[in-house]
Amino acid sequence: MLLWPWQLLLILVAPAMGSFLGMLVERLPRGRSVLERSTCADCGAPLRPADLVPLLSVLALRGRCRACGAAIPGHLVRIEIAALAVGLLVAFTTESVADMFVLAGYLWCLVALFYSDLLYFRLPDALTAALLVLGLALAALDPGRGWLEGLLTAAGAGAAFLALRIGYRTLRGREGLGLGDVKLAAGIGAGLGWALFPVATLLAALLGLSAASFEAAREGGLPRAATRLPLGTYLCAATALIWFWKQLDLALPGQF
Ligand SMILES: [Zn+2]
Repeated sequence: MLLWPWQLLLILVAPAMGSFLGMLVERLPRGRSVLERSTCADCGAPLRPADLVPLLSVLALRGRCRACGAAIPGHLVRIEIAALAVGLLVAFTTESVADMFVLAGYLWCLVALFYSDLLYFRLPDALTAALLVLGLALAALDPGRGWLEGLLTAAGAGAAFLALRIGYRTLRGREGLGLGDVKLAAGIGAGLGWALFPVATLLAALLGLSAASFEAAREGGLPRAATRLPLGTYLCAATALIWFWKQLDLALPGQF
């Protein structure tokens, strides 16, 4: 089967997918409908079709609302750029159309979850459910894994996080890990497999600690145990980094 028309399609839809993800990140964590019309967050002016063209409209409008001149939130642009980066990576590193679209969908879900947790401390069920389904599809497409291994890894990863959640609450008497993190862990386990899931959690912990230390150093102190960290954000970042690494065929401890 010819691959290039699909590669082209994936790269062309990637920025549009980015603006769709940006819309989900703005609405799902706050329980808003995904069907209503897009408006400026500042003045409420409805956006015109020309304002919805990903990346280009931001350039044309110089990053400001056409009606009131308020700045377009920077994360919306970063989500479109991240979605395009996913499209480019996946288009040139996969060998079948199914691999291409399932992996792109999986990484796009991670982008939306990354920003939902970072901005709102929420991991919407719709996104963690989509991640789990796409993760299971990745397992099924991988000749070395299969859907059953994916399902078992998802269950194991979810159970491990649930145990951590209960353990933390019992020891500390407060919430350390949300249920959203448990569902996210299941989707990450399904997509990465049992060998790489622990690598992702370790990398996420390192990213979280570095970010907390960096923040604390900027404010001139040490990280405190009560500092609230968007764990899901670091898990998504770690998982995406591992996939980029895997796809680019760089040597990673362990074997694929
Ligand atoms: Zn406006």
